[in-house]
Amino acid sequence: MKVSLINCTAEARELLIFTKKTRLAMSSTSFDDIRKMSDEEKDKELRYVFGTIGSSWEFVDYVFMIEGVTRAFTHQLVRHRVGVSFAQQAQRVVDFSGGKGFEYLTTGKIATDKVLKSFYDECMDRIQRTYSILVGSSKDYENVGGAAPQDARGILPTNILTNICMKINLRSLSHLLNVRLCKKAQGEFQDVAKELLAKTLEIHPWASPVLRVHCAQHGSCLFPGYEECPVRGYIPKVDKDVIQEAWSYVHHEAQPKGDGGFLREYKE
Ligand SMILES: Cc1cc2nc3c(=O)[nH]c(=O)nc-3n(C[C@H](O)[C@H](O)[C@H](O)COP(=O)(O)OP(=O)(O)OC[C@H]3O[C@@H](n4cnc5c(N)ncnc54)[C@H](O)[C@@H]3O)c2cc1C
Repeated sequence: MKVSLINCTAEARELLIFTKKTRLAMSSTSFDDIRKMSDEEKDKELRYVFGTIGSSWEFVDYVFMIEGVTRAFTHQLVRHRVGVSFAQQAQRVVDFSGGKGFEYLTTGKIATDKVLKSFYDECMDRIQRTYSILVGSSKDYENVGGAAPQDARGILPTNILTNICMKINLRSLSHLLNVRLCKKAQGEFQDVAKELLAKTLEIHPWASPVLRVHCAQHGSCLFPGYEECPVRGYIPKVDKDVIQEAWSYVHHEAQPKGDGGFLREYKE
């Protein structure tokens, strides 16, 4: 997986301050006044910007290229609807039978258990071979095939690797990191969220107060019913910075498993 920050709003810090100073007369010359502020003055203004309603955060955009991630991940990513735009590599068009074929990710216990991994890889190999037969590029079945990639893709696995481009504003990025840096999120999403955070802080370190896991930013838990969370015990008893430190030390990924829902009673 690779995350690159390929574009972002220029003079972001000044723009945040400018769009929050709505009680003062707004004009292009007042933007020049903000440019002339010292770093200390700008930091003071930013404390106000980040301590109140986040409408001005919407003026700052980031464009990320996220490569080598699963469709399972991108399916969850595109659930974020507000202040976010996406462009994703098309499975309708790309023929995955050429070269090495499709790539996929192996996660959790399957990645570390040799027996499970061999079943998993064998299944992926079979999918690859069948896909090639469907689109007509299998050397073993020369007279069969002709299916369009958009139809053959029906058998491709959820963990096939893909690339996605995302534009997101600072307010939405704050919200996304709040929920996806959470230990309750899937491990792959947590990994991408950490990279989004690192790449943003490289150029905008002053944005760190609003780019945190929810509990370390707001002092409350989003999933109080999730008792396995290793950070949960710190909330809301201790300072938010201590929660942040506790969060950064432990690796944990929730392992949700359905209980059969309304069919449960028939199992008993
Ligand atoms: C740990 C975890 C587990 C999850 N499990 C599931 C699951 O099992 N099933 C599932 O379907 N999803 C699941 N999700 C996805 C989740 O339900 C959200 O779809 C996703 O996190 C995007 O959040 P959002 O809607 O707040 O973000 P956005 O779509 O970006 O919206 C941002 C904010 O805008 C406001 N908003 C957006 N649209 C509306 C609207 N139509 N009306 C009113 N206000 C709106 C809300 O305040 C919202 O928080 C899970 C997410 C996490 C983090």
